[in-house]
Order: sequence, then C-alpha cells, then structure tokens
Amino acid sequence: MELFENSNLLPEVQQAIKEMGFERPTEIQSQAIPFLLANKRDLIALAQTGTGKTAAFGLPIISKIDLSNSTPQALIICPTRELCLQIERDLKNFGKYLPLNTLAVYGGASINDQLTWLRRGVHIIVATPGRLVDIINRGKVNLSQVSYLVLDEADEMLNMGFQEDIDTILEQTPENKQTLLFSATMPQEVRRIANNYMINPEEITIGTKNSGAETVSHHAYIVHSKDRYVALKRLADYYPDIYGIVFCRTRQETKDIADKLMSDGYNADALHGDLSQAQRDYVMKKFRNKNLQILVATDVAARGLDVQNLSHVINFSIPDDIETYTHRSGRTGRAGKEGISIAILNLKEKGKLKQIERLIKKTFEIKQVPDGKEICNIKILDLIEKIKSVEVNEEKIGSFMKSINNAFADMSKEEIIQHFVSYEFNRILEYYENAPDINVDSSRESGRERDRDGRNRRDRDKGNTGEERKDRVERGERRERRFEDVDRSNYTRFFINVGKKEDLDKSKMLKLLNEHANDRDIQYGAIDILKSFSFFEVDSKYTSKILSSFAHATYQGRPISVEIAQAPTGKAARGSKNDFIKGDNYTSKYSRDTDRRDRGGSDRRDRSNSYERGFKSSGRRNKNSDGGGRKRY
Ligand code: AMP
Repeated sequence: MELFENSNLLPEVQQAIKEMGFERPTEIQSQAIPFLLANKRDLIALAQTGTGKTAAFGLPIISKIDLSNSTPQALIICPTRELCLQIERDLKNFGKYLPLNTLAVYGGASINDQLTWLRRGVHIIVATPGRLVDIINRGKVNLSQVSYLVLDEADEMLNMGFQEDIDTILEQTPENKQTLLFSATMPQEVRRIANNYMINPEEITIGTKNSGAETVSHHAYIVHSKDRYVALKRLADYYPDIYGIVFCRTRQETKDIADKLMSDGYNADALHGDLSQAQRDYVMKKFRNKNLQILVATDVAARGLDVQNLSHVINFSIPDDIETYTHRSGRTGRAGKEGISIAILNLKEKGKLKQIERLIKKTFEIKQVPDGKEICNIKILDLIEKIKSVEVNEEKIGSFMKSINNAFADMSKEEIIQHFVSYEFNRILEYYENAPDINVDSSRESGRERDRDGRNRRDRDKGNTGEERKDRVERGERRERRFEDVDRSNYTRFFINVGKKEDLDKSKMLKLLNEHANDRDIQYGAIDILKSFSFFEVDSKYTSKILSSFAHATYQGRPISVEIAQAPTGKAARGSKNDFIKGDNYTSKYSRDTDRRDRGGSDRRDRSNSYERGFKSSGRRNKNSDGGGRKRY
C-alpha cells in the first residue's frame, strides 16, 4: 500500500488522518493495513513505539467495526496508563468524523466513571490489564462480541508481571476473534501467549526498529563506575540545550541521580513507579512542555511517554538486556531530526558495545568526557550566543542608556566583556579549574598509571581530587565500590530492606519469595540475612519477574523495597564476599543510609547543606526552573 487513498479505509478515516498530516503509510502500516482489511487471520507484528503501529491496527479496526452496535467489538490491551490514554486519543482522532465511542480503562482513575461509560455503550475499549480484570471480576463488561483483540507492547506487559491478568482477559473473549500481537521483542513468554491464544498467525517484522534510527548517533564514554555521575554532569554542561532522558536501571538509582542533579541546580526531575499518578502526570507534563530539560527515568516509567524531539538519550548505565538499548535510543532522532544516544560505561561493560553494534547495525563513537576547558568554552560561547540573540527593546532601555554609559565610562569594551562573562562564569571556571581527566583509557589501564595532571590513580579512586570530593555522595559511592565485582554468573543479587530486625531468617525469606514470585521454576541462590536488610540471589532470567512481584509488596505492614544489588570493586572485591557483606561498617553504614532515605526530603536538604558548606553559595536556588537555573559548582 503506497498511499492511504488507495486503501479500503473508510473515507471519513482517510479525511481525519489527512488532517493529522499522515501523507504516506509507514512501513508497518503498508504491511498491516491491507492484511487486516482483507483477513480474519491473527497477526504478530514485531515493531516498536514510533513506527506508527497505533494507526496500523487502529485504522482498519475503526473501518471494520459495526458502529450501529455499541457493545465492545475491539479490545486493546497495553501496559501503562500513559500508553492507554495515548492510544485512545489517537483512535478518537482517527474516528472524529464517525459516531465512534472509545473508552480508556486504567487504574488510578475513578472506576465508577469508567463503569458509567461502559454502561452507556462503547465500540472500542483500550485498557491496562489490572483495571480490566477488576471490571471483569465485577461482571460489568460484556466482552462476548469482541471481534478484534490487540495486545500492544506484549513484551513489556509480561515484563511488568501482567501474565496472569492477560490470561484471564483472553479467556473471557470469544474464540473466533482476530488477535493482533504487537511486541518489540519476542521472548519465550510472548511466544507462549502466541502459541496458546493465536491460530496460525501471520508474522511481520519491521526492519527499521524506529523511524529515527538513521538520524541517531551513538556515543560511548568510558569511565570508572564511581565517575558516572561526574561524567553525566559534564555532559549536561557540555550540551547546555540538552532536552533528554537519562535512563537508570532501578527506581532507587533514578531517585538518587535525579536528586543529585536537582541539588546541583540542574533542571531535572525523576519519573519512576514509586510516584503517585498525579506526580507522574505533573512531571510528564513539565517535560512535554519543555519546562524540564532532563528527565531521569526507569525504562518502564518512560514507556508511555511520547515525546518527539529529544536531543539526547543517556544510558546512565548500559542495560542488561541489550534490546532495551534500542528502545531507549529510538526515543531520539525522530521526525528526521538529529539525535544523540549516549552510553556511560565502565571498562567491564565495554564488551557489550560490540553486541549492541551488531543489533543496531551502527558503530559507537568512543568519545572523551569533556574536560573543564572544553566545557567552559562551550558554556561561554552559549552565553554569548544567548546575549547576541536577546531581543533588545530600544525604547524601554533607551531612557537608562545615559546612566549605563556613565557607569561604564571608565572601562574599555574589552573590560566590560570580561566583567560580564566573569559575573556569570567565575564559579564554573573555579569549579573546573583542576577538574581531573575521568576518562578510562583501556590501553593504559594499569594499577600504576598516572593521571594527566600527575596525580596517582589510587588517589583518584579514593576520590581525593577536588572535583570528586565535591561530587562524592558517600552513600552511592561506597555502595558501588563494595559491590561492583561479585561474580554473579547466572544469578542476579537482590537487596531487600528487611532483615533480622524483622525476625527474618532463611526459611522465612524463601517463603516470602515464594509468596510473591509464586513460581516454582525459579532457582534461588545464596541468601544472606543481615540486621536491617538482606540479600538473595535469583536465576537472572527471573530478574524482571522478581522486581515486578515485589513492586507493591509489604512485610509486617511495612513496604518492601527490592533492588538489584551492585557488585563490589577494589579492595572489597579481593576479600571474601562475606567479609564485606557481613562487615560492621557496611551494615551500620547502610542502615544509616536507609534511615536517611526513609526520612525522604531531609536527605536532599542534608546533602545540599554539606555542598554549600564547602563551596561558595550559588545564589538563588533555581530548581526545576526553565533551564536558566544556576548550577551548584
Ligand atoms: P506510534 O508508533 O503509533 O506511537 O506513532 C508514532 C508517531 O507517528 C505518532 O505521533 C503518530 O501520530 C505518527 N504517525 C503515525 N503514522 C504516521 C504517518 N503515516 N505519517 C505521519 N505520522 C505518522
């Protein structure tokens, strides 16, 4: 199908998409639309967000359903509320010249309102699995006339632990429906759904993973793990107009990095699953409106966020599953614009670059983290550009010009420029004056190497240089050093915030794991119960299952937090694993950290005070402002 006009889509639908600016079908639309208009066969499509898949299933479904029958005829299941709302909004737009009723059914909003709309009659339901199952259990939805069932982002739904809900929903729908499954990847779990619920499906794969792939450049920066945050800050300084997402692995890492960036005066905020729906909406709105420059997010939280013109995507660490890298990088370079996907890695992760390169069919440019001089240069030029392009209201400023000229009478043009620039830049110049080179050059990586500035590397690793002292947030760094090197082989080590204090022992821990993960196939490894927290190891293939199973869990009435533990480096790694895990220092240190974290906001205040004690005050705190905020250097 080369043009929408030549298809059998309803003329009203064609009119609507024309007004939306859809001129030519995307690859997935050219393949799926004619197939769906002509066939009742099931369809599996391997495609990602950004490929135009909503229209690929939405346009033919709207063109085929019976609008005189307001019992649901199409059911679209997707993983997140944001995606649910986005799909429903798109469908409404496609059907705006038709008497089409659509309904978004998702958690976190009034169920009664949703039930009222259902009673009034809808043609298409777009739903997240949990809320739909709730409505099914109340017997308030009639799915007996569903002719089209779409599973959108099936891999993500299974990653989020919706397997049982999906089974429940699928069992409620008629056998003779047409099932369409969209997924970016095809792991075993998705295959299982396809095998169990689909009949002889047609399979299509969209070659280009996303429309922007060609316009994305891939940059890699190699640093020690402890320098990741310093590298991130330098990159945010180096790209003053950055509008991007920083992807983190866990909610905790997301919170920590966003907190640090905010404390340091960057226009950043966090998006993760621990936020209430209202908080998430607020952050996303700020980001969409570009009132927020840097969004720090987990993959799952950023999933439904459709933002077209990101300048950068930053992988704060390389994801375990390299496919995730393609999802992340596909969020930039859209709509023909140039985008940069950045990976900050340590030496051990370097091997993954090759695997990713094979997948994306592009090579990474290994870049050097900019030094202080380069950053200052960029920022000064940026300021000058901004000064040059500012709108001058001659009429208004005219009446002040005489006194301004008088005030500057004893200074040359050169001096005036120096003073203006120094006014803005003294702090940053000072901050970056002795900034060390944090790049790890694999060819000179030996214990005896010396930095360019002559300092012994051991000093650097201890964080004894000026910049590192400033940046060191003791908690994150200590934890990272202690855990970086554990050989996890096929097991992933998790941290859980309950321990002996809660009367936990190994058998109770196993019971807790079995209760929540509820899967007899899961292999557990070592379990270490400590005073106020514990560790357990699980076969790595169940990592996402464990994380999602404990998402809202409680133990003795207290919320449980489960995270992937980091492995140790350096001295700690050389000793036995138990030396440091059971060491008093670590236990008491961590307990202090968790206590502090429990206190929430005060943590951030403590940290920013200690920053301020060591450094010149940066003047007005401009957190979450319009990007013109002053950084804490
Ligand atoms: P999706 O993959 O469905 O999330 O679509 C990604 C973006 O592409 C959305 O903003 C759509 O509105 C837009 N889009 C989808 N199909 C087309 C098309 N044929 N022409 C132009 N834009 C499109």
